[in-house]
Amino acid sequence: MKQRLLFLGPPGAGKGTQAQRLAASHHLLHLSTGDLLRAEVQAATPLGQEAEAVMARGELVTDALVLAIVRHRLEGHQGGWLLDGFPRNLPQAIALDGLLGELGQSIELVVLMELEAPVLLQRLLARGRADDNEAVIRHRLDVYQEQTAPLIAHYQAQGLLQSVEASGTVEEIAARISTLLE
Ligand code: ADP
Repeated sequence: MKQRLLFLGPPGAGKGTQAQRLAASHHLLHLSTGDLLRAEVQAATPLGQEAEAVMARGELVTDALVLAIVRHRLEGHQGGWLLDGFPRNLPQAIALDGLLGELGQSIELVVLMELEAPVLLQRLLARGRADDNEAVIRHRLDVYQEQTAPLIAHYQAQGLLQSVEASGTVEEIAARISTLLE
């Protein structure tokens, strides 16, 4: 059973929903950099204050900042984990490889959740989070194409990538993902 997992895919593909479910049913640490950053913003910490405007524009916060967050959570954690929303660009992926090397751990599976852009846009508009207005969503989709999509080739080259069609009900998608975990 694979228990060191990474979820990849555009905003709106449902990474958070599936990650949360799977983490709960398999007792994995769910590490969502988006959620962790929003918690920092909410608590108005210096880190949150730094991240808030960047997130509102739909851009990526600095690699150093998210890396510090991830390192803090993974160090000292023994069991499995599920990374959601991180890494988001090639430098983050390379830094993660380095961090995991230090910790003597490795990624066992990368799940790519695939969904077409018009459906993504619809889902995000319906969600209505602070950074979910149409202009910002379009920008986040561009940022995904430019900065995050190159990770597909990175993990394909490592033989870790499996794709999942991310349309249908939450249960249908969960069932597709669970067949990849054996
Ligand atoms: P979504 O997948 O819907 O875009 P997330 O919750 O994953 O939502 O991310 C929301 C915002 O948080 C991003 O647009 C970005 O500003 C910031 N963020 C989250 N994860 C990262 C990361 N790994 N690197 C840089 N910025 C991040």
